This record gives sequence, C-alpha cells and structure tokens, in this order.
Amino acid sequence: MNAIPPLAAAELTVAERDRILAKTALFNPPPITTADGRRELVGLSREELAEEMAAMGEKPFRAKQLWHWIYHQGETDFSRFTSIAGPLRAKLAERFVVSRPEAATVQTSRDETRKFLFRFRDGQQVETVYIPDTAEDRGAVCISTQVGCTLSCRFCHTGTQKLVRNLGAAEIVGQFMAARDSYGEWPSPKDDKPRLLSTIVVMGMGEPLYNYENTAKALKIIMDHEGIGLSRRRITLSTSGVVPMMDRCGEELGVNLAVSLHAVTDALRDEIVPLNRKYPIAELMAACRRYPGASNARRITFEYVMLRGVNDSEAEARELVRLLHGLPAKVNLIPFNPWPGSPYQTSTYEQTAKFAAILNEAGYSSPIRRPRGRDILAACGQLKTESERARKATA
Ligand code: SAH
Ligand code: SF4
Repeated sequence: MNAIPPLAAAELTVAERDRILAKTALFNPPPITTADGRRELVGLSREELAEEMAAMGEKPFRAKQLWHWIYHQGETDFSRFTSIAGPLRAKLAERFVVSRPEAATVQTSRDETRKFLFRFRDGQQVETVYIPDTAEDRGAVCISTQVGCTLSCRFCHTGTQKLVRNLGAAEIVGQFMAARDSYGEWPSPKDDKPRLLSTIVVMGMGEPLYNYENTAKALKIIMDHEGIGLSRRRITLSTSGVVPMMDRCGEELGVNLAVSLHAVTDALRDEIVPLNRKYPIAELMAACRRYPGASNARRITFEYVMLRGVNDSEAEARELVRLLHGLPAKVNLIPFNPWPGSPYQTSTYEQTAKFAAILNEAGYSSPIRRPRGRDILAACGQLKTESERARKATA
C-alpha cells in the first residue's frame, strides 16, 4: 500500500494551478477607470458594488438597485435609473460610468452572422461574433477572453498573434452586453422566455483557462438571476486542454465544457496543439472524466477540426471512439476554416462523412459544423486583430 503518490499528484496540480494563475496576473488589463477618473461599474461583482456604495455612505440595497439597472434593464445613463433619487443619481454620475466597449466595426455576413470588432480604453481590440439560428429566434454569441493567445495551434489564426493581454471581467461581460445592444434585447428576458442571444460560447480569441479569474467573474455576472440571468446550461467554455484549471472551472462555474482535441495521438497533437506537450491526451481525458456534472444530458463536446490528410482517416475516427469510451461525449466536426497564409486544407465532404459515420455508429453524436460567416472571416479560428503588444523600451 502506498498512499503518497496520489497525494503528490494532487499537490502537483495545485502547484501548477497556482503557477498558471500567477503568470496570468502578469497579463492583466489596466484599471477600469476613465480618463477623468470615474470608475467603471460593469464587471464589478455584487460584493465590490456594495463596497463602492458603502464607501459613499450608501446602504447595501443600492448595489441591488444598480445591479437591476445595469444588468436587467441594460441602462447606461444614470439619469434613467429612476428608482434612485435625483441627487444620488448625480453623485453616482460624478464617480462612475456604466459603459460598453466601443464597436470599431460591425459586419454582417450574407448568412446573417454578425462580427463586432470591439475596442477597449487602451486601444486593444478583440472580435465577438453573433451566430443566429435563422430557423428559430435564438442564437449564440461567441466571446473572446484574451487579446491574442499564448498558445499557437497550427491551424488557428488567433494563434499567429502573440498574447497582448488578458481581458478584464468588464471587457468580457461588455462584449455580450454590447452585442445585445445591437439587437435591442433589453430588458433581459426572464426565466425561459425566448432570447435572440440565447447562448454563449467562450470560443473566440484566447484561451479562457489561461485567464480564469476574469472569465469566471464575468460568467458569474452573466449567470446572476437578478440580471442577465443566462443559465450555466446555456454557456459553453472551450479549452485547448489546460488540465490543472479544468476541475476548478467545473466546480465553480459548472458550465458546459468543450475540449479542442483535434488529434488522437500525442505525436500529432504535440504538433498541431502544442499545449499537448505539457498536458498530453491521457491527462486531458482523465480531466474530462472528472469534470463535474458531465452526464448524458450534459455531454462534453470534443471539437475536431478536419484537416485533409492530417487527422481525418478512418483509423483515427476509430481511435477517437476508443478514447471516448465511457464518456458522455459528442463530437463537433469542424471543417477547417482557411485564413490568409494558413497551412492546411479542409477535409473533403466524403471523408468527413465517413469519419462521422464511424462515430455515429459507436453512439456518439457527431454533427458536421456548417461554417458560418466565412465571407467576413468570422468563422471558428479566423479571429485575429491588429492589436500589438507594446514593445518594451530597451535601455
Ligand atoms: N482557445 C480555446 C477557445 C478558442 S478557439 C480553444 O482552443 O478551445 C475555438 C475553437 O476554434 C477551437 O476548437 C479551435 O481549435 C477552433 N479553431 C481554431 N482555428 C480553426 C480553424 N482555422 N478552422 C476551424 N476551427 C478552428
Ligand atoms: Fe489559442 Fe484556441 Fe487558437 Fe489554440 S485554437 S491558438 S488555444 S485560440
């Protein structure tokens, strides 16, 4: 009997998680104040909002009122916060702002996908995409969590851009709120009322689990029942496989998990998803098996980008079935979306269909994703901005 190794492994994961969080902090965003010193209220937790009110000598219920106006009504102008008396509204406006990221450009595709380029106070930019389900009145908002990405998956346009910085909670929530402004979807629909912007996929630019604290704070705000109130079942977070953060994400947020797998052998995954060298397939699959709340009703999505002649053979489909054995899983087969200078071609439709058939026969739903918004470079993996990391002054 030997009790030490499992303990050591757990400690290792904790140490690794702390290391990731410390490194993440180095890329944190600038403080959320305007040039004239007013503080942004969007992105503050309920507790922080209550602290701000206490600092002004106001009662805690003020925070609740503000929360309602900001996240339920979607108001940005304090003069319209009508449940609050005039003098206090004026005082609030002197100290605070409720704002949105500026939409530098908005493009709408032939298929009605809408891409926003949002610019933040320091000039950094990210893209956000709204993908409507045109058959029904609903749709997904694909939000970004970082400007650029530290990882460099070979098939991904964002991966060609260095990590500039993390987005703050205000900037993550702000993308969703600004997208809702664009469709006029305020006040927030209650309970199960239909919503045009009905789901969130955290699948835009960046690796959310390398910006965990800000992403978690933003998602908690979005899930809060007295505000935007989007349920955790309607939120899917996609990771390229940051194993030490996956447990925490499951326990604290309980959102749906999507894992960017893309290869079934370590040799190939090391090459196309270089993070695999740190967290190889076996560890990644073990973390998926531990993911809380995964069930047949809430399956883990495995994303698999179809690269012609690279990862799309029938033998690889069979190996994928073997890897998924016993997991409540579904597989999204994503046709590779090319971008200027990209090194791959997408698999043929016939080959993708064969691959899908093997998964389907083994009982795994495996829809072939129809690319959306390709004409405006808004499809999966095509997001990239011109934002650059400021060069360090060399002495
Ligand atoms: N960093 C996270 C989330 C953002 S990427 C992650 O990697 O999961 C969102 C999805 O788009 C991932 O599954 C990613 O692998 C996929 N993707 C990236 N580039 C792509 C491309 N050119 N064509 C199709 N899918 C791509
Ligand atoms: Fe980063 Fe995801 Fe693109 Fe990989 S696929 S480079 S993790 S954004």
